[in-house]
Amino acid sequence: MFKDMKLLNGIEISDIKEDLICYSYDSSYAKGHIPELVAWPKNIEEVSKITKWATNRGLKIVPRGAGTGMAGGAVPVFPRSIVISLERMRQVKEINPKNFTVTVEAGVINGELQKDLQIHGLFYPPDPASLDYCSIGGNVSTNAGGPRAIKYGVTRNYVMEIEVVLANGSILTLGGKTVKRVVGYELKELFIGAEGTLGIISTVTLKVLPEPEEVITLLLNFHNLRKAGECIPNIMKLGIIPRTLELLDQSCIKLIESHAPIGLKTDIEAMLLLELDGEINSIKRQADLIVEIVRKFGGEVQVATDYYSRENLWKARRSISPCLLKMSDREKINIDISVPLDNLANTLEILRKISEESSIPIICFGHAGDGNIHVNILFKRNHEESRTKGFELVKKIFETTVSLGGAISGEHGIGITKKPYIKMQLSQKNIEFMYAIKKVFDPKELMNPGKIF
Ligand SMILES: Cc1cc2nc3c(=O)[nH]c(=O)nc-3n(C[C@H](O)[C@H](O)[C@H](O)COP(=O)(O)OP(=O)(O)OC[C@H]3O[C@@H](n4cnc5c(N)ncnc54)[C@H](O)[C@@H]3O)c2cc1C
Repeated sequence: MFKDMKLLNGIEISDIKEDLICYSYDSSYAKGHIPELVAWPKNIEEVSKITKWATNRGLKIVPRGAGTGMAGGAVPVFPRSIVISLERMRQVKEINPKNFTVTVEAGVINGELQKDLQIHGLFYPPDPASLDYCSIGGNVSTNAGGPRAIKYGVTRNYVMEIEVVLANGSILTLGGKTVKRVVGYELKELFIGAEGTLGIISTVTLKVLPEPEEVITLLLNFHNLRKAGECIPNIMKLGIIPRTLELLDQSCIKLIESHAPIGLKTDIEAMLLLELDGEINSIKRQADLIVEIVRKFGGEVQVATDYYSRENLWKARRSISPCLLKMSDREKINIDISVPLDNLANTLEILRKISEESSIPIICFGHAGDGNIHVNILFKRNHEESRTKGFELVKKIFETTVSLGGAISGEHGIGITKKPYIKMQLSQKNIEFMYAIKKVFDPKELMNPGKIF
């Protein structure tokens, strides 16, 4: 079937089974098809060429960044699929410290961009825990968040301009490089969080900020999980917005200490990892006020004073998800619900109760400062009954989340794994409008079909 490949002139492709298998999964538990072909274009013109070629043959097109997605978005759903991987497009095209923008190809790795910007005294706030691996194109397509979202917002708040390739191969530039812009419908917004269902994002211009002067990291230990949950809105009430406010429950802390110990207390029910950034005297004053509040809620405070101990803590925080995968007797279903802050404490207690009643361990961690909790349901490995029970809990947790005014995904998206639950969240009319928008950009429904809807 691929004997006319030479027409693609210079575009790297593979149809070797070993290669194709690597592109049939991502970081979720989603199972899909092995694609027929994988292509690695090196620039936007090549993306356009290969996309057009695939469309002319009726192949389903699956855009892919680094495959760290947690919802199966980059997993082919249909047998006749081509994966278009952006991983060879890793050029930082322009850092503009005068306009506070950076323009990158979509395959640039988030963490590498952060380091490049530091040299210029600049700062790109969105920092998913996968930042050492995930791509900017993937971040835009999932509207990725991260610990710093509480103060700085999510990817959407930084995307200024994108170049996209549609299924028919046409190239569109959407958005612009000015802070303010009111020129018709802002179509770029539709592509942010669209999980590759509208087109392939090939170039991205992001807003960046000057690097903050200083950072203070506080470890807040609580013997009572509910008190930790209640303490969070009270910290916010001070009028202080921390740059991160992460929650780790006891099982999470124990997991870190059993896999890569860093001396965390294991006899507490919850730990908050809080960071402040800004002018040094100002954040020291803020830290003092926070310590007062935390003590009122029965918490104990530790300060990570130097860069090394701070990095150690973040390394531990980022290791939770990979550690969960290493459990020999358990498999995980992870979901990332988001609840209004005033229902956070409630939600944490409900999750604990659900776990106790079902005898299935549930490990919670995440960006509690913005109400986004990563819930990991650990069913017994190779145990069908336990697995079924695990998925029943997913449904129950989503129902609870929606009833509390929350969202079934705060940052990972719908992809394949949450598709069965989307109607819990969205009305039929809402879904119909979304689908109609998809068909405007992708009338033949070849662009990442089988995702979201
Ligand atoms: C350990 C771990 C920690 C994580 N922590 C976080 C976190 O803190 N916050 C968070 O938000 N997420 C987190 N994630 C999830 C994941 O890293 C993000 O969703 C990330 O944005 C995916 O980027 P990627 O390059 O790996 O995209 P992929 O997984 O390759 O793709 C994700 C989706 O985007 C689409 N896509 C990718 N690139 C493009 C493109 N150029 N054009 C069009 N569509 C495209 C794909 O089709 C797919 O639907 C974590 C994942 C892991 C494994």
